[in-house]
Amino acid sequence: MHDAAHGVTLDEIYHARARIKGQVSRTPLWHSRALSERFAAEVYLKLENLQPTGAFKLRGVTNMIAALIERHGHDALAKGVTTASTGNHGRAVAYAASRLGVPAVICLSTLVPANKVAAIEALGATVTRIGQSQDDAFEEARRLVKEEGMTLIPPFDDPLIASGQGTIGLELLEDQPDLDRVILGLSGGGLLGGTGAALKAIRPQLNVTGVSLSAGAAMFESLTAGHPVAVEEVESLGDSLGGGIGLDNRCTFALVRDVMDDHFQVSESAIANAMIDMLEQEKMLVEGAAVVGLAALEEHQIDIKGQKVALVLSGNGVSLETLDQARQLAKR
Ligand SMILES: *Cc1c(COP(=O)(O)O)cnc(C)c1O
Repeated sequence: MHDAAHGVTLDEIYHARARIKGQVSRTPLWHSRALSERFAAEVYLKLENLQPTGAFKLRGVTNMIAALIERHGHDALAKGVTTASTGNHGRAVAYAASRLGVPAVICLSTLVPANKVAAIEALGATVTRIGQSQDDAFEEARRLVKEEGMTLIPPFDDPLIASGQGTIGLELLEDQPDLDRVILGLSGGGLLGGTGAALKAIRPQLNVTGVSLSAGAAMFESLTAGHPVAVEEVESLGDSLGGGIGLDNRCTFALVRDVMDDHFQVSESAIANAMIDMLEQEKMLVEGAAVVGLAALEEHQIDIKGQKVALVLSGNGVSLETLDQARQLAKR
């Protein structure tokens, strides 16, 4: 954590917090009575589903665009920003760019659900749908950068993005300084890497637990292999956790390797159960990717007895169709 080859330091995370202040919500840390009783622990929910765009991704994106304007001036972004994402990141770029007066083009794979596409267009960005995977969509964004002079805002693999997500870690420990464990969804690793960096810097004994899908868990496969590897993307109730980490990953692979203590994978039926539990017991409607922490607690019977634990509810991007699928699978 001290060499910081990945560029994500506690200092950078404090800078990020100053930049995003007033643009991004400081979300509540909600004490869940139902889950606390059920697991004989103190369970808290970090409500990132309450961000204006419905997910934590606004933190990293706002930090990056604001930092670029700070360093190079507003004119440097006149040709606009672009990105590829499974929806929440695209929505964050669209929102942050329009607030900061910068044009945006969002490239999406054809697997991205229609409700997410409509939400991005409503924020005033242009959407291009292309290819079968996030990697294909990312290629198009790269082309726009090369041929149209746009600026790429990556979904996770940049120190400014990960540092922005890391502001979650600062808020968690301000609200509950003696947390024992924080459980986060893991895909590209900006969320877990950034938040984990803040948590570990302030409270080294805290356990940072990552949770991935059972299929196409690119970061987990890469950590096991010792270098970034490609995986096949599959449809999932936790679609925001899909996609690769980039074979040329320069930040989050090293970062996650540094800060993650435990890792679990969860089945589709465990995600479905957790979504329905969250709705029935907490009256909280969130997406599959946001409940993988609860899914892991249930499916792997992680022993958190007597511990103070936070689950990061990362986003609320769920359609009625997906909720219906979850209900079928959870058999309620
Ligand atoms: C992007 C996303 C994640 C995973 O974040 P990474 O930084 O890619 O690991 C988790 N949950 C939701 C809702 C997301 O949008």
